Amino acid sequence: MDAQQFREFGKAAIDMIADYVENIRDIDVLPSVEPGYLLDSLPEDAPEQPEDWKDILKDFNQAVVPGITHWHSPRFHAFYPTGTSYASIVGNLLSDGLSVIGFSWLASPACTELEVVTMNWLGKLLGIPEEFLHCSSGPGGGVIQGSASEATLVGLLAAKEKTVRKLMKIDPSLDEDEIKPKLVAYTSDQCNSSVEKAGLLGSMKMRLLKADADGRLRGETLKNAFEEDKAQGLIPCYVIANVGTTGTCAFDPLYELGPVCNEADVWLHVDAAYAGAAFMCPEYRHLMKGIEYSDSIDVNAHKWMPVSFDCSAMWVKDGYDLVKAFDVQRIYLDDVKTETKIPDYRHWQIPLGRRFRALKLWTVMRIYGAEGLRKHIRDQISLAQYFAKLVRADERFLVEPEQSMGLVCFRLKGGDKITKQLLENLTEKKKVFMVAGTYRERYMIRFVVCSRLTKKEDIDFSWKHIKDEADILCSDKI
Ligand code: PLP
Repeated sequence: MDAQQFREFGKAAIDMIADYVENIRDIDVLPSVEPGYLLDSLPEDAPEQPEDWKDILKDFNQAVVPGITHWHSPRFHAFYPTGTSYASIVGNLLSDGLSVIGFSWLASPACTELEVVTMNWLGKLLGIPEEFLHCSSGPGGGVIQGSASEATLVGLLAAKEKTVRKLMKIDPSLDEDEIKPKLVAYTSDQCNSSVEKAGLLGSMKMRLLKADADGRLRGETLKNAFEEDKAQGLIPCYVIANVGTTGTCAFDPLYELGPVCNEADVWLHVDAAYAGAAFMCPEYRHLMKGIEYSDSIDVNAHKWMPVSFDCSAMWVKDGYDLVKAFDVQRIYLDDVKTETKIPDYRHWQIPLGRRFRALKLWTVMRIYGAEGLRKHIRDQISLAQYFAKLVRADERFLVEPEQSMGLVCFRLKGGDKITKQLLENLTEKKKVFMVAGTYRERYMIRFVVCSRLTKKEDIDFSWKHIKDEADILCSDKI
């Protein structure tokens, strides 16, 4: 493929994406294909001869798109959002156009420095304390990880190394292999699956402490767990606070957990993967009260901001904690800079290689402006409030707990069985996509305002569809 063909292919693909987005409202959110559909329709071997790009786009439309779950459909209300926007798509395209691997400053100075700049911008926009930013006078700073899962694991591994170093400094006769199996991590039973997985991957026992009736891990519970473990000779090492749980979007009180962690010298990581984006609106910042006690914070720009996966913004109070944990030298990787103001980012993450992810964050923050981004968050929350109001007005349904951010959990008063049946029937119809959750042991349907394209009319459509299905289900039961 030469440059001329690339221009044609690229322009045709851009047109196709714009058409897809413009017409997404007309397609069912869930695909109508059976498992194996694509395996059966594509050749078993890669082509021997070069093919025409027009054939590839034709197959993309005919074979790939029919097998897509449309995450950006205005009626996609499952999980939590994955962000995107035209600005982000172009940012990704520019990144692919350059295709650099920015593991050190020298490997591509702009790749590192734009990440420093955008992480400062985003940190300030969210009201993250200054000591976590590169522009502060201390060793804090931000890094773009691939996912919140990676950020949780990076925090865990850094906390492990830090604790081992600390204990061996206090008592040099200690053996690192004796210390490591005694280290314990803590979070609540409401944590995301990726948090539990970080314990598995990082070989650290992870205790899922019982959250209170509102889904929040309380300071007292954590303190008691530390004491129980210490009494058994174990060593508290790492705590993950859930700021916007996946199930019900509950907020752990950082102002309670923080002092407990600081007093015990235990690393506190804040998983604000979804809800953290709301902190760009000052009216929600009370929910991160106490964040200054933490050691690391993660917010997925690729969730609730219009930035495409992957772009998980992680800040640490002390970048040297990461460098000391992950610095492995080779002669060919000779670093030019190793301080935290202009980091060699390979020491801040799991892989060696890294993409130029800051470009899409940069294009989004400039095209939207802080005002546009705040409007996006506020619009989505007000759509969720509107949906909750519609549900509450129907006496067959209950909204529980209160709508939080873009999430509304609801159920039929008739019980778990009928609520589950309603969700199954709705999923079968493919027009609206939601998933289940639980609240106080009750089965709930989670409705999240996800797509940046969702408008009030779409909420009306989704609610009417849910109501119609409930009519059928309830009349069947009579
Ligand atoms: N933490 C929370 C609270 C989440 O809701 C999710 C995903 O929804 C994650 C972590 C995992 O995010 P990622 O897919 O970026 O690893």
